Amino acid sequence: MSELIEIAAQKIAAASHPVSFSGAGLSAESGIDTFRQSDNATDTEKSALWSSFDPAKLASQEGFSADPGMVIDWYNWRRKTLADAVPNLAHETLGRQRGWVHITQNVDNLLEAGGAYEEDVLHLHGSILTDRCNGECGHKEVVDLHNPKGLRDCPQCGRRMRPSVVWFGESLPTIALNRATVEVEKADLLLVVGTSAQVYPAAGLIPFAIESNTDVIIVNTDRSLKPDENIIEILGKAGDVLPQLFKYCF
Ligand SMILES: [Zn+2]
Repeated sequence: MSELIEIAAQKIAAASHPVSFSGAGLSAESGIDTFRQSDNATDTEKSALWSSFDPAKLASQEGFSADPGMVIDWYNWRRKTLADAVPNLAHETLGRQRGWVHITQNVDNLLEAGGAYEEDVLHLHGSILTDRCNGECGHKEVVDLHNPKGLRDCPQCGRRMRPSVVWFGESLPTIALNRATVEVEKADLLLVVGTSAQVYPAAGLIPFAIESNTDVIIVNTDRSLKPDENIIEILGKAGDVLPQLFKYCF
């Protein structure tokens, strides 16, 4: 493993157009989407309750139509979790690099909190820090994570406001996906972090990078892809592995 890390670290140091592509595994070590202890009994009970809900049922247009108040309350619980979260070593390692583009499936802002410039982060699944109109008017509002607003109507058109994230069954934002494709096409190195790479768009971006002769380095806790000579796969937690991979970059 240390030999693989050495080879990968040298490729990362030599890359001229590096791109990262991250998923839930990047933020897991910051306590996002996991049960969190709380000194406050009521909060703890609430966390346990919300943790038992199936995100696939809440994060969909069908779930929102069936019970919009519950969906907004669930997101606001996740927002309060995020308000207390801090970037981990992996976010900070990536965030401190300059000249990188970070494509992420995560709806949190921990890469930015770790030091990445906002314009260098492409949120393919949107952001939990913004609400938008569920209609077509395009109205958006910034969310206060500590004090998010409850269910309410859009002030422009009267439809419901909702989190500006991509729900199950919805397509990815075209602008972010197009830019991600262009960046991966230009890239000479793609660093995949904390995503199983089984589902779209990860499943499409990685073969696309390999076809373009781009070096692909994958850091994940599970082996996800069939062995390929163009892929270096390193098993481990992002917070442990990334600081080693960037040892020549500080
Ligand atoms: Zn509206």
